[in-house]
Amino acid sequence: MSDFDVDLFVIGAGSGGVRAARIAAGYGAKVMVAEEYRVGGTCVIRGCVPKKLMVYASRFSDDFHDAAGFGWSVGPSQFNWPTLIRNKDLEIDRLEGIYRTNLEKAGVEIIDSRAVIEDAHTVHLLKTGARVRARYILVAVGAHPTLEPAIPGGELAITSNEVFHLEAQPKRILVIGAGYIAVEFAGIFAGLGSEVTLLHRGDKLLRGFDEDVRDALGEAYAKRGIKLALNRTVTRLDKTADGIAATLSDGNVLTFDQVLVATGRRPSTISLGLEKVGITLDKAGAIPVDAYSQTVIPSIYAVGDVTNRANLTPIAIREGHAFADTVFGDKPTMVDHDLIPTAVFSTPEIGVVGCGEAAAQERYGEIDVYKAVFRPMRATLSGAPERVLMKLIVDKATDKVVGVHIVGHDAGEMIQLAGIAVTMGATKADFDRTIAVHPTAAEELVTMR
Ligand code: NDP
Repeated sequence: MSDFDVDLFVIGAGSGGVRAARIAAGYGAKVMVAEEYRVGGTCVIRGCVPKKLMVYASRFSDDFHDAAGFGWSVGPSQFNWPTLIRNKDLEIDRLEGIYRTNLEKAGVEIIDSRAVIEDAHTVHLLKTGARVRARYILVAVGAHPTLEPAIPGGELAITSNEVFHLEAQPKRILVIGAGYIAVEFAGIFAGLGSEVTLLHRGDKLLRGFDEDVRDALGEAYAKRGIKLALNRTVTRLDKTADGIAATLSDGNVLTFDQVLVATGRRPSTISLGLEKVGITLDKAGAIPVDAYSQTVIPSIYAVGDVTNRANLTPIAIREGHAFADTVFGDKPTMVDHDLIPTAVFSTPEIGVVGCGEAAAQERYGEIDVYKAVFRPMRATLSGAPERVLMKLIVDKATDKVVGVHIVGHDAGEMIQLAGIAVTMGATKADFDRTIAVHPTAAEELVTMR
């Protein structure tokens, strides 16, 4: 310890950094964490958590509507945006407090400052000018949304960072992009009663997902009244008396109250001092690391979105934990980035683990595909036009289920459990011999023949 002030200096108190700090401290390491914004990181402060609260808010409109078919008369319902934002903010404050307390309880010192790397073992705290010598440095600074592509008037748009703090609910919103964030916010605003246009340069939403899933979401969104402007881009934005005028590549000009750009995120690696110590960023601006999250500088590691491996909170947490086990727990641990269960909190929700049909064909050769599309029981009385899609992909040679795809209510909850089976290597025969839980939507997973 003599040459160093701490064993571990973590830059960034988000999902990956906090987990690494706590586990390392649990192994007896002296740990400091620097955070320039708020403890909890993107997921807690302006990502997964506030987003999910807004998803819940957005789904009550369906509930009010569905209730009528079950005999309820629901009076005129009204949604109040400031109430949602205020309550959401209180919950985020509460969670941030818990994150801080948990770090402190673990003996981790939190420094509220931006920190940059000065050399392989030195971190510079910009707020105080202090320098800290660390045996190991972990970079866990995450990523940030970008306003891309750059267009005239682009600064009139907002990103997912700002959308959580709008003072008023936009009556008309344009969402640009068709990834996780774009489809989730399109669903949120549609559910809350905004007029939503989802504009995408491609011909379908959610590139990389199974084609049936993409089709199902596109159809469901169209039915829910979301206007899909596909195969188009926005060429300029202009402020007008009526709002923001978006000129589209097809020549149309449409006016909105807000324009949300969700065309991807970039690793937050600018001005961190990485190049200075000999870490060359990749094309996406991410930090290259090995399977143990170690960079080319042996004392510097990186986890989470800043490494642009699989940009999901549970992966950052797993990588942070594995780093601490490897470096401080004497348990070298790699993170398996295959078979990651994931959910998109669109409405309808999507849950996926493993390969889509096309990817499975490429990877495994011969496959069997089982597919069911059905009306969920609740929709029988409510009259809602929703459909559930379930799809299993099976490797013919081994009978292993290598892909599960669900579109429908609670798909995220279902896929977590299906993920266990797939991770364990369950075969289609294992699914078949599992007794169905009746009546549920999930039973379809074990009754498809
Ligand atoms: P994604 O990379 O998922 O999607 C970006 C979207 O923007 C794509 O539709 C892409 O189109 C489009 N796009 C990219 N560049 C341009 C461009 N220059 N012009 C026009 N369109 C463009 O990014 P997100 O911002 O949605 O999400 C970032 C990450 O955050 C995700 O990868 C995910 O890992 C994570 N996340 C996870 C969530 C969850 O687990 N539920 C929720 C939210 C985020 P194209 O398909 O043609 O490339």
